[in-house]
Amino acid sequence: MKRLAPLFLIIVITLRAAPAAAPSPRPVLFNTAFESASLGLIEVLGETEFRIRPRGQQDARGRNRQTTWWAVRLDQLAGRAVTMRVTGFDGEYNDRPVISWAGPWYRPVVSRDGKRWSHVTEAEWDAERKELRFTLPAGADRLWLAHIPLYPTERALALIEDARRSPHARIERIGNSVLGRPLHLVRVTEATRPDAAKKVIWMQARQHAWEADTSCILEGALRFSLSDDPAAARLRSENIVLFVPMINPDAVARGEVRFNVNGFDPNRHWDEVDVRDEVWRTRLPEIWHVKRALIDQHARQSIDLALNLHNTETGEYLETMVDDDAVLARMTLFHDLARARSTFDPSRPKLAVTPANGGGPRNTTNAIWSEARVPMMLLETRVGPGSKLGRYPAVEDRLELGRRLVELMAEAAR
Ligand SMILES: [Zn+2]
Repeated sequence: MKRLAPLFLIIVITLRAAPAAAPSPRPVLFNTAFESASLGLIEVLGETEFRIRPRGQQDARGRNRQTTWWAVRLDQLAGRAVTMRVTGFDGEYNDRPVISWAGPWYRPVVSRDGKRWSHVTEAEWDAERKELRFTLPAGADRLWLAHIPLYPTERALALIEDARRSPHARIERIGNSVLGRPLHLVRVTEATRPDAAKKVIWMQARQHAWEADTSCILEGALRFSLSDDPAAARLRSENIVLFVPMINPDAVARGEVRFNVNGFDPNRHWDEVDVRDEVWRTRLPEIWHVKRALIDQHARQSIDLALNLHNTETGEYLETMVDDDAVLARMTLFHDLARARSTFDPSRPKLAVTPANGGGPRNTTNAIWSEARVPMMLLETRVGPGSKLGRYPAVEDRLELGRRLVELMAEAAR
């Protein structure tokens, strides 16, 4: 034992000297090289503490900067627990200032694979700084972090390819986005039954890139419509169900928030976009083509109910500009059925009818009623927690809501 003593001493000396010679830990890396990724300024507050801000998007006039989207991947975590501070939620909407759309209710989502998401559970809201602080779970080397679960264009394209293989669906490419991405219309019906005996239902999503939840609702509705479920077979035999899964794919792919890549809002300008006007076809093809498809369909066989899917932070409601009593009765029935038999959890007491001279923008998709008598409804669903669901909505909740909504639209249209 005595002989080992000097060697032991050397080892002890080496170990004691080691901390000074050890390389500093590799830094956490912020990566935005994936579809829908988006991030603004990063402040490094420490090795494992960061303050981040959404990048935001302004319209073509330099107005209406909206900050409701951010998504990033953190690499090289090496199992460390990282504390994030997220702030910069101010912006502008309808030319008026927005003071922080986020608040104490707000919980972002985190993922280990960029596909399956869960909400951050513990977080603190700093009301003075308008900043959310939370610590990410330790143990991973890589984590995705976003406002709500991502739904990139590649998932919508995979959905369309699945529909293409179904004997019940017909896919039409109705036009292209500014950057040449396809705009698809999916038509689902039982081909052996005459169309004249059927009701016509229209559902569209993703005018606004950040509103990824609405893609899950539409996917749930479309997958159910194509399924072997006896209720789906009945749906197809009694209805023509039309889907436009993604209206603003360029913005989705590029991690933008609201506007198309020319800076125009696909849920405004509906009164201005004239389908005979080539200027609008270039400036806002996302409306131009969808509007033309809507008007063509309505002229061929009239649409009984149309639903335009959107997200808000905390509000949930159904709204229309329709002023015809019979159509309003159909919409009210849909509203009440959805409230009774789905997770639709309205924050307004009933179907909101915006009169022609009422407040709020008059140029949304709902204006298609005034121009072409298409019975369009806006459905806003919240990304925050609802009392009916009792938690933050998950992807599975949205898929299920979509299935319910398409069935209830058919029921109301009957
Ligand atoms: Zn929207």
